[in-house]
Amino acid sequence: MHAGYLGHTEEIHFTTNSKWSGDSRIKKIATHDKTGANGSACDGWSCCDGLRSVMLRVRQAAERASRDPNRIRVVAVSKTKPVSLIRQVYDAGHLCFGENYVQEIIEKAPQLPEDIEWHFIGHLQSNKVKSLLASVPNLAMIESVDNEKIANHLHQAVSSVGRKPLKVLVQVNTSGESSKSGVNPSDCVELAKHVNFGCPNLKFCGLMTIGMPDFSSTPENFQALSNCRVAVCEALGIAEEQCELSMGMSGDFELAIEMGSTNVRVGSTIFGPRQYPKK
Ligand SMILES: *Cc1c(COP(=O)(O)O)cnc(C)c1O
Repeated sequence: MHAGYLGHTEEIHFTTNSKWSGDSRIKKIATHDKTGANGSACDGWSCCDGLRSVMLRVRQAAERASRDPNRIRVVAVSKTKPVSLIRQVYDAGHLCFGENYVQEIIEKAPQLPEDIEWHFIGHLQSNKVKSLLASVPNLAMIESVDNEKIANHLHQAVSSVGRKPLKVLVQVNTSGESSKSGVNPSDCVELAKHVNFGCPNLKFCGLMTIGMPDFSSTPENFQALSNCRVAVCEALGIAEEQCELSMGMSGDFELAIEMGSTNVRVGSTIFGPRQYPKK
């Protein structure tokens, strides 16, 4: 490990998502010496503690649901956070990060290690697709495909930059809020079929939803995504294990895991609260 880990290393080995995608690399999560010997990189909010507690809570939620925690990917959502903090979480053993603005991921990705697996989780415009794929060769997944046109653009851009097929999720608007992107649940099968059969440079991997921040309605939103999976798997003739569910954020990731999420997107619980510049 890198210098700066003066604390002992716990004998808990969390698998990162790369194990799940076939790479057997397992990194150790170093724990901090609580006396503060970990140095200035962790001043203020400690991302390393944030990561560690999220990984532990993921494991506990998986155990409650009798699920294998190694089959649940944690996307560390780093939007608005500086490269130095992302580096800190990477150095603590995490490989999977998520961003939701094209401009931001294009600036950050080249400053960070190439073995990071970036997930794009934001609304994507057609005119940004080419630069996203060209600038981020280690883009692992786009979680937010919500119409055929964007799927077609992605399909074309994969061949024009000459990269391997791109994993995508279809985003579903399960809460019906007009502020949220995503197809209506009733349209998810059609879009999944288009991606799966009409865009051979894309690899359809499942479904994503945000759901309402109002927790009382979140179970319904998560259940709706799960219902979409049943319909999509039937239409594509695939097993449920071949269709991921990306659901759960800082406020509801444990519930999402208990309801079958395979991919949680956690930002502020790892990185600390976001501060947006005042307008
Ligand atoms: C910002 C964001 C997250 C993470 O939100 P937190 O509440 O900070 O965990 C997850 N998913 C999407 C799509 C986001 O934009």
